[in-house]
Amino acid sequence: AKAQGKDGYAMFAPSMRDGFDREVMWRTELQQALADRTLHVAYQPIVALGERRVAGVEALARWQHPQHGIVAPDEFIPVAERAGLIAELGLLVLRRACAEFAAWPGSQSTYLSVNVSPSQMLDASFPSKVAATLYEVGLRPTQLVLEVTENALADESEVIGTLRRLREFGIRIAIDDFGTGYASLRYLHRFPADIVKIDRTYVQDIARDPAAVHILGTLWQLFGALGLTAVAEGIEDPAQAAMLVELGCEVGQGFLYGHPGPLNSITVELAPAERT
Ligand code: C2E
Ligand code: CA
Ligand code: CA
Ligand code: CA
Repeated sequence: AKAQGKDGYAMFAPSMRDGFDREVMWRTELQQALADRTLHVAYQPIVALGERRVAGVEALARWQHPQHGIVAPDEFIPVAERAGLIAELGLLVLRRACAEFAAWPGSQSTYLSVNVSPSQMLDASFPSKVAATLYEVGLRPTQLVLEVTENALADESEVIGTLRRLREFGIRIAIDDFGTGYASLRYLHRFPADIVKIDRTYVQDIARDPAAVHILGTLWQLFGALGLTAVAEGIEDPAQAAMLVELGCEVGQGFLYGHPGPLNSITVELAPAERT
């Protein structure tokens, strides 16, 4: 029993019992998906706003369920985390994304950005697994960005050691969903990162809330001072993009520039901006 939810994702009918049964069902099916490799990767462009060209692509996991259709990562990533499957899933996504990206002509001038769960960072062999993957497909470490949410910093010392090793290889680190967790400003200068991704809730506010404009403007100055590149997430209309550029934001992503989809649907050079 399935209904089509937002963005065409599968949703389960309310008649299905919640809780334990549902968790067990998801877990079993996710294990099957890992074995069958029915997990795949969608890509969303990350755009250099001024130059109007694609600077990078973010890999987003998709689960093509045999009966339910495409299941959203917000549903199955937490299940994978609780079931202890996230390391395996994360590595599968990373390997697949690296191989597909390396075969894409646009990879010559762009980077690949992959989401990583905090628990993956606790595996001491993670950096060498990533390095081996890059070597296998022939990508340079500077072509890879790994995205971690600021909540990963809760486990500070261990995660920070892993991040340092990744950066020694030349891999860049992005703090994802910045401004939604509790770590925030206090950790920013201690956290070994190169990029900060501003959560889309801030971006959505700028068109109607002058305070949001001040907050973003101030954040941008701070990031600049700390040597961090800021990426604005969730840009949906040209007015938001124009305001962000005015605030000094150089990089952004969102439905305005493309929905997640196959790599070869992405063109590196964008058409000129529409006049607003
Ligand atoms: P995220 O890393 O913050 O990824 C951005 C999410 O926002 C994506 O949802 C994307 O489709 C959506 N998005 C992009 N532009 C817009 C926009 O303009 N407006 C709106 N409303 N949404 C936009 P998606 O693909 O459903 O992924 C949800 C989350 O699942 C991701 O959030 C990430 O935290 C997690 N995730 C996805 N793939 C992986 C993965 O391979 N590993 C891990 N650990 N987490 C993943
Ligand atoms: Ca992300
Ligand atoms: Ca994000
Ligand atoms: Ca998110």
